[in-house]
Amino acid sequence: MDFKSIIRDIPDFPQEGIIFRDITPLLAHPQGLTAIIQGFQTKFAELNIDIDAVIGIESRGFILGAPLAMQLGASFIPVRKPKKLPSAVFRVEYALEYGTDTLEIHQDAIGAGKRVIIIDDVIATGGTAAATAKLVGQTGAKLVGYGFLIELDFLNGRKALPEVPIVSLVNY
Ligand code: AMP
Repeated sequence: MDFKSIIRDIPDFPQEGIIFRDITPLLAHPQGLTAIIQGFQTKFAELNIDIDAVIGIESRGFILGAPLAMQLGASFIPVRKPKKLPSAVFRVEYALEYGTDTLEIHQDAIGAGKRVIIIDDVIATGGTAAATAKLVGQTGAKLVGYGFLIELDFLNGRKALPEVPIVSLVNY
């Protein structure tokens, strides 16, 4: 499937100068989600790494991470925006272009030593994915890879990430 021809480009959203890569038409395609998950599965299989858990970053990381976890026979673990998770959390604050953002994970979400991958729809600057790696570190789990549907190469976000394999299915 030609993902790029189905992903919709929205100029100047959410602010001027940004081209928003809208994946909703791809999710709406009857075979879209299947093709994305198969794409991830193929690339992670090539890496030949054991995966105990898939971490999805709120909220588009949930849409892709949950079915991937099912296919891998792995746990699914949500990383959420603040004050959504009801039990004790680890919290990370990270810088945005303007201001800061915060993400949380349940302290008991993953066992120490478990092997996890982090999934999101887009890697731009890498700030969100790098912050999520810090949360994984706090749980004692081991980060073994990243998966992104879309990588914005010109922002070089992968430079912000720890040295683990990075899978991306579409590059701009
Ligand atoms: P970053 O922390 O800069 O890597 O930004 C990643 C997060 O912002 C992801 O969760 C994306 O959903 C979202 N994002 C950033 N840039 C774009 C873009 N051009 N199109 C769609 N989503 C984006």
